[in-house]
Amino acid sequence: MRTAVVVGGGLGGLAVSGALARSGWQVTLLERADRIRPEPTAVVLWPNGVRALRALDLGAGLDAIATPLADGGVRRPDGHWLVQPRPAPAERLPVVVHREDLHDALIAGLGDRVELRTGVTVRTVRASQGERPAVGDGRHTYEADLVVAADGVDSVIRRQLAPEAAVVSSGCAAWRAVIPWYRAPSLPDSVGGEILGAGYRFGAASLGERGSSGASSRGGIYWMATAAGAPRPEPPQTQLALLRRWYAGWPAPVEDLLAATDPVDLVQQEIRELRPLPKAYGFPVGPGGVVLLGDAAHAMPPHLGQGACLAFEDAATLAALLRESTLPDAVVAYDRVRRPRAAAVVRQTRRMSAVLQTRGRLALRARDAALGTITPRLLGSAATVAAQWRPPSR
Ligand SMILES: Cc1cc2nc3c(=O)[nH]c(=O)nc-3n(C[C@H](O)[C@H](O)[C@H](O)COP(=O)(O)OP(=O)(O)OC[C@H]3O[C@@H](n4cnc5c(N)ncnc54)[C@H](O)[C@@H]3O)c2cc1C
Repeated sequence: MRTAVVVGGGLGGLAVSGALARSGWQVTLLERADRIRPEPTAVVLWPNGVRALRALDLGAGLDAIATPLADGGVRRPDGHWLVQPRPAPAERLPVVVHREDLHDALIAGLGDRVELRTGVTVRTVRASQGERPAVGDGRHTYEADLVVAADGVDSVIRRQLAPEAAVVSSGCAAWRAVIPWYRAPSLPDSVGGEILGAGYRFGAASLGERGSSGASSRGGIYWMATAAGAPRPEPPQTQLALLRRWYAGWPAPVEDLLAATDPVDLVQQEIRELRPLPKAYGFPVGPGGVVLLGDAAHAMPPHLGQGACLAFEDAATLAALLRESTLPDAVVAYDRVRRPRAAAVVRQTRRMSAVLQTRGRLALRARDAALGTITPRLLGSAATVAAQWRPPSR
């Protein structure tokens, strides 16, 4: 039986572990935390991410927990429409899912061929020719035919195999929260849409329906805000007060949502990315290999909501290639297929970052123009890039 060690039990690591196990691999999943713990927030999955999960045979589970994201268009803080809401075919619409529900669905998909070991912090990778690939935590060596590095933006495996890829700040911080329905302000049935301002951005989405007894007990309204600058060192209560100041006067329902947010709901995060991207995602080693997957391979700012979608694409692609070819060929093909794809999405995301984060008076005028003219084009082409992906055929 072929064996794999997957490092990291985030969305990417869980997805690929289950996919390999369902294809008959014996998988050891190593996670440094004492248990697999999702964030209490949500994630938007674009059609490519949904397609990837379906290719991983997780479609039925996803349908039970996903809410279609209402197209609320894109506005400026003064209410001016940058992109009007317009009806789109269902297959082009994203869905929004609570991360805890998504983790549960991925864990349910692990089956009994995945040995989950928590509290294991991988520190080294062995990738010398003539030996099987392996990782170590200083006490044990975990050897396998395939090592999947799904250990996130700070991946120790990537630092050793692709040291050219540096982790840098994206120049902004993000805040997210899910307001449970019982505390959510009364708003139209479904909430959606984004507001883009000078260095600030706010988006919201309904998770399930108010009062519905749907599959998830974690329904409510999810919102995410990003602001140029560093994360705030103050306690959540003060951060929330700052957010209320920054977003004062923004179109409804921004102020209502911030007012209904409890400080304990608030999740703040510094946004970081890889610049440059690694020169390789696949490293043939001895009879097998090592691959980079998810944020370990292509961490990017969340402006187009593509990080998790790409991690699922990675997992679906790797699983399909491993079904079709020998392990060394699959490692080489994974590298060949995934690098241009990730580079294309990262390129679009960086254009969006540039528009959102322009500073200086002259630059501000350019940014306002850009928000008005470039943003609709950028979002349109980003949606196209997202929609374009198809899983490799079985
Ligand atoms: C504010 C924000 C909003 C976002 N919104 C969206 C969205 O709407 N749609 C979307 O598609 N994407 C979104 N993303 C991106 C998405 O969250 C990430 O791309 C995705 O979660 C990456 O998953 P991952 O499994 O690759 O990495 P991670 O989630 O970082 O998981 C890595 C795992 O590896 C473990 N680990 C790390 N180092 C070691 C080690 N040495 N040994 C053992 N274990 C280790 C960690 O503990 C962790 O569990 C967003 C990101 C942010 C920051």
